[in-house]
Amino acid sequence: MTDDLARRSLAAVWHPCTQMARAAQSPPLAIARGEGAWLHDVEGRRYFDANSSWWVNLFGHSDAGVIGAIKQQLDTLPHVMLAGCTHEPAVRLAERLSARTGGALGHVFFASDGASAVEIALKQSFHSWRNQGLSKKREFVCLKNGYHGETIGALAVTDVQIFRDAYDPLLMRAHIVESPDERLGNEAQALAAMRAVLEARHEHIAAVIVEPLVQGAAGMVMHAPSYLKALRELTREFDVHLICDEIAIGCGRSGTFFAFEQAEAASWPDFITLSKGITAGTLPLSLVLTTDAVYQCFWSEDVTRGFLHSHSYTGNALACAAANAVLDRFDAGQLQRNAEQAALLAHAFAPLRDDPRIAHLRQRGVILAFDVQHPGERFSERFHLAARQHELLIRPIGNTVYLMPPYLIDQATAGFLFKSVVETLNDVLID
Ligand SMILES: *Cc1c(COP(=O)(O)O)cnc(C)c1O
Repeated sequence: MTDDLARRSLAAVWHPCTQMARAAQSPPLAIARGEGAWLHDVEGRRYFDANSSWWVNLFGHSDAGVIGAIKQQLDTLPHVMLAGCTHEPAVRLAERLSARTGGALGHVFFASDGASAVEIALKQSFHSWRNQGLSKKREFVCLKNGYHGETIGALAVTDVQIFRDAYDPLLMRAHIVESPDERLGNEAQALAAMRAVLEARHEHIAAVIVEPLVQGAAGMVMHAPSYLKALRELTREFDVHLICDEIAIGCGRSGTFFAFEQAEAASWPDFITLSKGITAGTLPLSLVLTTDAVYQCFWSEDVTRGFLHSHSYTGNALACAAANAVLDRFDAGQLQRNAEQAALLAHAFAPLRDDPRIAHLRQRGVILAFDVQHPGERFSERFHLAARQHELLIRPIGNTVYLMPPYLIDQATAGFLFKSVVETLNDVLID
């Protein structure tokens, strides 16, 4: 049955992030259902969803709270357009997220996927300067190896070659600046590089966009909160917006609800983008939080000074209801549980520190990663396939193996993950 569904899928479905000519060698798993952290295929085998289905699934695949909220909303109002209408789930969600920033980011714009949220933040930044008579400010700064999505605007501030190179002729030019990486100990150097670009170009620069604390798609590249604090000061000094893309790292992944909270900076960023975990892997939703200062730049009798951007499903009521159920969990102590789960993971994987086959075992909240020293050819694909034999669904990035599991880790699960990862390493690094 798996084979049949996989065969039909390869014929009819164009899979994302996949060279289809190669897909036949590692056909897609035909998943029938999900329960907690486990996915079950059509033949009854099970796999632990170690990457939370591309980082979205915070509470497992059958979370009664989130699913119940969606069902209730489905019987009331699945969707209504958000221009000229409004609804309780969107308003409540906006109010609650704003409250989590102490009101500093008090205005919320909704969309449906992460890349769109990035587009919105870029457009709002540029347009807010333009409305202040500073239309020269139209350049963006991003970090080396950073990832912000794959639509044309988001790709222009993304520095992952494999996603970007083919489309390079279509992309606006961004300044790509050295990124901080704890493995290299280069924070001061990265900040100096940022200062140099801002000093030279600030009159032309609208915003700096970063993934705070962890560059996910780069391979879980981590930096200290002190970098963010210094970056906030720098962007203030040069009158440039700071966009924190928390699409992957937000919603408690890093240990705080927003990763930027750890920066203990004097002020919040000008924009935060959220998506992925905000509906815990149930429905597509993204959003951009921004300040009253930005919002006021659009306030005018003149329609064209407004932010006229929209998407058909902007502020979808079902998705907003799901997100409110996610926030309920955080109101009820989720961060404390995440801290406990992070400690369980750290403890379980500690023996890997002495394993000569790996380097840079690292962790930020409920993300654990390490680099494989001599990965060999097509390591990621081989590891992914071998891990299936150990009931693990996992996709390394290059030679970086990482876990970004649902927030459902207990002692037994942490032990299982360690055992499966080590057994997979043993299979893949045979000589
Ligand atoms: C996934 C991701 C995006 C893009 O989100 P999509 O929903 O895939 O468009 C943007 N930024 C970061 C940091 C991400 O991890």
